[in-house]
Amino acid sequence: MQTTQVLTLALVSLSACTIEAQGEHLHVVGSSVNSSEQEIQSLLDVGETLHTDIAALHPPDIALDGEVRVELHGQFRQTSPYVDDQGTVHLWRFSEAEGGYRAMYAHELVHAIAYDSLVASALAESESAGFYLEGWAEYVALLVDPGKTGFPLFGFDEDVVVGHWLQQGGPTLAELRERHEELNMPCQGQAYILRASWFRYVDEELGREVVLDLAAARDGLEREAVEVVLGASLEQVDAEWADWAAARFEAYPDADAEAEAYLGRMGWYEPCLD
Ligand SMILES: [Zn+2]
Repeated sequence: MQTTQVLTLALVSLSACTIEAQGEHLHVVGSSVNSSEQEIQSLLDVGETLHTDIAALHPPDIALDGEVRVELHGQFRQTSPYVDDQGTVHLWRFSEAEGGYRAMYAHELVHAIAYDSLVASALAESESAGFYLEGWAEYVALLVDPGKTGFPLFGFDEDVVVGHWLQQGGPTLAELRERHEELNMPCQGQAYILRASWFRYVDEELGREVVLDLAAARDGLEREAVEVVLGASLEQVDAEWADWAAARFEAYPDADAEAEAYLGRMGWYEPCLD
């Protein structure tokens, strides 16, 4: 039995080899155990387009990373995709319905493209910065990859999902800002899309310049600096966002039935409620 296992391991490691593809901005690296040359090339092509589209959504005075390494790690088990402290994107393969490696690709590339300028600023150390960095990453991902079918919408309409969570109660935006580290992962089914929706509100209702100033965070992301950019208090903007989102849910045909179906799809998730 043991001999067989050792032999199997030896065979796997002998047959595993690195496969990679280099483009203008991205370097995608995987292994023959969990990917194919064709898939790596396809992820490179998709990633180059995403990189260009993401770059176009950043203010010109923000230095962007022109070279990003992307590592593929096989089947998703427990580790969520992330960007490490070298600015490297790490991806796991989700189900085909969720887009496989693509599920969180755009979101992580948003983090990675501004990684160096983030490190150069004091943002990484501020607690509420997490709210804005995550909200911006997911909002840009929705803009550049509107067909994405994985987390957090799983193919359902943003207006339905946001309106549903607003009706349910659970953490407010103020709590998501103040307790980012504590709430982000346990409340992920709500937090990611609510923050992204708040960014959509700022973009569509307060203006593209305002949302770009927020993303640039030239004076940091503490309350005072954010309120100067917004031109209003956070309480006021949050309340107006909630009214706006509730109206969009109301206007969506069969929103209640859609919300039911979405909940069925989210059976794995235990909501954070009051
Ligand atoms: Zn993120």
